[in-house]
Amino acid sequence: MEFRRPSPRTLFVDPAGRGWRMSSDALVLLACAWFVAMGNAGFWHAWLEGRPLGSPGTWAQFGAVAVALFALHFAFIAPLANRWTVRPLLSLLVLVTAFAGYYIDRYTVYLDPSMLRNVLRTDVKEARELFAWAMLPYLLLHAVLPLWLLWRVQPLQRPWLAALPRRVGLWLLVALAGMGALWSVFQDAAATMRNHREMRYLITPGNVVWSLATVLGQDTRQATRVQQAIGTDATRTARSGAAGRRPMRVVLVVGETARAANWGLNGYSRQTTPLLAAMPDVLPFRQVTSCGTNTEVSLPCMFSPWGRRQYDEARIRGSQTLLHVLQRAGVQVFWRDNQSGCKGVCDGLASETVGKATAPDFCDGERCLDEALLQGLGPRLAQLPAGDQFVVLHQLGNHGPAYDHRYPESFRRFVPVCDTPDLRRCSREQIVNAYDNALLYTDHLLARAIDWLKTDPAGRDTALVYVSDHGESLGENGLYLHGVPYAIAPDVQTQVPMLVWLSDGLARRQGIDAECLRRRGLQPASHDHLFHSLLGLLDVQTSLYEPSLDVFAGCRH
Ligand SMILES: [Zn+2]
Repeated sequence: MEFRRPSPRTLFVDPAGRGWRMSSDALVLLACAWFVAMGNAGFWHAWLEGRPLGSPGTWAQFGAVAVALFALHFAFIAPLANRWTVRPLLSLLVLVTAFAGYYIDRYTVYLDPSMLRNVLRTDVKEARELFAWAMLPYLLLHAVLPLWLLWRVQPLQRPWLAALPRRVGLWLLVALAGMGALWSVFQDAAATMRNHREMRYLITPGNVVWSLATVLGQDTRQATRVQQAIGTDATRTARSGAAGRRPMRVVLVVGETARAANWGLNGYSRQTTPLLAAMPDVLPFRQVTSCGTNTEVSLPCMFSPWGRRQYDEARIRGSQTLLHVLQRAGVQVFWRDNQSGCKGVCDGLASETVGKATAPDFCDGERCLDEALLQGLGPRLAQLPAGDQFVVLHQLGNHGPAYDHRYPESFRRFVPVCDTPDLRRCSREQIVNAYDNALLYTDHLLARAIDWLKTDPAGRDTALVYVSDHGESLGENGLYLHGVPYAIAPDVQTQVPMLVWLSDGLARRQGIDAECLRRRGLQPASHDHLFHSLLGLLDVQTSLYEPSLDVFAGCRH
């Protein structure tokens, strides 16, 4: 670092005359040291877990890992930095590191590609709910302070060619230091990374850059190709064409962030589903596993024929879904959304997002309560072409962290509630209370929907299926929200509630035995069953259909 009086022509002159001047490489060095030291609390916490803190060996390894991380970041950033780019580039990385570090620290999120995709698809409303005033002091230290320092520095202007030998020499030196450090801890680091592969997604800002590049790569590949058609042989079964048969309306409610552990029908100690529990013809499925731990993974997966058992994200995203197969067979499909869209599942099909125009009773300027999904639904569906209907209602459900925004005042029954998105400032009891109140409201929504289907004015045969997209952590083991990589996700994030309700007419015509189905509900099931079960329920046949994955198949007589 050199301190020199700035020349009169320089732009960023400190009024006191102490303009700092530094080469772009020196700035990158300082920034990388800052990232490793200040931006990676989550990573260090995970790395130190289970190691003897009193042992000098631990700290020697700690130092070596720090040097290796430092060198790794330097190797990627330094070649992109010159006297014009260095400050904008580092500013961006400082901001990314500050925000990522905050959420990793607060909620233990892993910024892998699927989490980043979730972040990128977050709308402004969701982002606003994640913002907490508690962020301000954190951002002051982790963003404002380094940015202020960074922009006080004037990058040195050296002729490109003259600077090159020095630059290359420095890069080699850092690379050597990094490799030496890595070598000294290689065996231990490799074992740790093998056993905790997801830990690399805590390394900030490398995690964000890596995940962003992965997602952009996937999206560009996808943008250039249309969804692959599936189930092109789909037709209705003979049963659907039987004489005197009444039209059918099947509603699938896709829940959000509801976990099985807190679901009254699944035996939770607190009754969070009083209305559904009082309906004897509601058939719960009590051991259901989700395909993913976030919406971006679960939604496309649950509507695909392959699901988790043959999970291939690119294939699933690049292909049509259950909805296209049903529509092709002649079922009228309609998607109604109260969240951030159907994630490609309903591309090209009839859909709408609820809002003030469709549901003035349940929407303010920003958000809608889930009952907005039902308001005006009958008249809207009457506009669809005649025939059998399959309707998806995509809830906002228990979307966190602002659980207390998910229900009207009358559902504030478990108190006191957590009323800030900064969950760590609430007691566990307050968080669970707010979360459970939101489940009470979903119970109300589903009961209302079933009542509406029961008294269908056109005398249709009706059914309702409800399943949540993934679960949620409410502070167990220091975890909050969801999105932990699937392989290490706790059960609370992957065990979800599901239920089926069939009108008498539909059960009779399909020959489904309700008691048999109730017993089936005690057996394990998963999102993988959804595609095949709904094909069966809607009398659609295609070579994609696998009877072993149809939960109704064994209960037809
Ligand atoms: Zn979700």
